[in-house]
Amino acid sequence: MCKAAKISFSIVFLLILNTQAFALGKASRRDFEQQRKQMVAGQLRGRDIVDTNVLTAMSKVPRHLFVPLEIRHSSYQDSPLPIGYGQTISQPYIVALMSQLLSLKSGEKVLEIGTGSGYQAAVLAEMGAAVFTIEIVPELGLQTGILLDKLGYDTVKSKTGDGYKGWSEHAPFDGIIVTCAPTAIPEPLKEQLAEGGRMVIPAGESDRQKLYLLRKKNGDIVQQSVIDVRFVPMVNSKGKPY
Ligand code: SAH
Repeated sequence: MCKAAKISFSIVFLLILNTQAFALGKASRRDFEQQRKQMVAGQLRGRDIVDTNVLTAMSKVPRHLFVPLEIRHSSYQDSPLPIGYGQTISQPYIVALMSQLLSLKSGEKVLEIGTGSGYQAAVLAEMGAAVFTIEIVPELGLQTGILLDKLGYDTVKSKTGDGYKGWSEHAPFDGIIVTCAPTAIPEPLKEQLAEGGRMVIPAGESDRQKLYLLRKKNGDIVQQSVIDVRFVPMVNSKGKPY
């Protein structure tokens, strides 16, 4: 084959490959969209999730982009999934329930402790919140910060650190959501809650955790327990559980 023929053969071959990759990308995007619709209808609406802001946000956020490539096919299933570093992304229903319990209005300020994959932060941002999120595992914090930027979630501000102490520079918060479980509810987080603010937090020993909803009313905290849950422990910078 002459040189010119070789070059045009390679170009045609590359074009075919590219078209196939594009078609595949489009097909799987549509596939994931379909799975997401089913997740919202069956796992959320089909249970007790009624907040339209939560339902709309979760039908938009591409959950499959927040889980490791090798388990992407399981992204929309009714369970938590491993995201590396011994951590997990919560089950879609738990993300929805916690978001609904926050009773958010657009533009409100929310602090999240435990950025993990960034999925919960993206859902809150999609709901119109200004999100401040803290992750204690530096590699996870960095990697997720980059992903959230890339996906255009520019109302999310993230940092690496110990969320037990909250983020006093940006306090008070209208909402605080904690996605790792301490044995007792951290005092600094109660202090950083705004008047009328809501906090959703799992707490307790690892085999007996409950999800709590706290409200600050006239400076006092009113606390109610919602359901039994199982979250990864909240740890300090040495990895010791709180
Ligand atoms: N919200 C996450 C769920 C992450 S799992 C998501 O949508 O994917 C809980 C996360 O809390 C883990 O990534 C864990 O590293 C983190 N974590 C544990 N203790 C912490 C602490 N003291 N401060 C901040 N993050 C903490």
